[in-house]
Amino acid sequence: MDEGDRLSALHHHHLRGLGMTSDSRREKLIAELRQMGIRNERVLTTIRNIPRHEFIGDALKGRAYDNDALPIGQAQTISQPYIVAKMTEAILEGGAKRGKVLEIGTGCGYQTAVLAALLPRIFTIERLRYLSEQARVRLARLGCHNVVFNYGDGHLGWKTHAPYDAIVVTAATANVPLALKEQLAPGGRLIIPVGPEGAQALRLIENTGAGFKTRDLETVSFVPLLTGKA
Ligand code: SAH
Repeated sequence: MDEGDRLSALHHHHLRGLGMTSDSRREKLIAELRQMGIRNERVLTTIRNIPRHEFIGDALKGRAYDNDALPIGQAQTISQPYIVAKMTEAILEGGAKRGKVLEIGTGCGYQTAVLAALLPRIFTIERLRYLSEQARVRLARLGCHNVVFNYGDGHLGWKTHAPYDAIVVTAATANVPLALKEQLAPGGRLIIPVGPEGAQALRLIENTGAGFKTRDLETVSFVPLLTGKA
């Protein structure tokens, strides 16, 4: 076994996890997502393959494949797999080209990793330095190399790389930031939780080229989109 093989064996072992993070747990999660209405097979396969236990602290690893949001420290959470699947499915559908994607709210980087497995180029912004840095290291370790990280406030989007074919916001706002709509390419889709705590709507906004088409998908519960960085 040469070094390449060894590394790849180690990587494989590491990614699959053991016992409480095993294949059967993952299959159960995928079955649950199907039951909840997720239909996109590429999304389901991606969620099955990404080692969610790698995004979670030791104390909660046993729950990594439960369909729940979990705390990750810094008063933040890892998103519920169903919501990650739903948002990803929503930006993939419609058949338009999805080249460049902007994500606001990197957090632990789980949604980022799902996007990176399905789409060519991901740009992701996080306002907490510690989380941004941790996610960058984690995704590199998991072999995810098509993500560019930005430590900053996502309210203004990221003009340098605009326009985006999709923008995914994983924190809730009272109003959709105008800058995000402006950075959406024609045919592009923005998905964002909008509204007060306890009554947020998961809103899908499409730039038709002649204006914006809006649809609310379901009620969700995200942490708030905050101003400034820390
Ligand atoms: N996408 C993550 C969940 C993110 S939770 C996952 O897959 O698990 C929301 C994240 O948004 C938090 O990490 C929070 O710090 C970040 N956030 C909040 N306001 C922000 C802002 N204005 N700009 C960038 N990130 C922000």
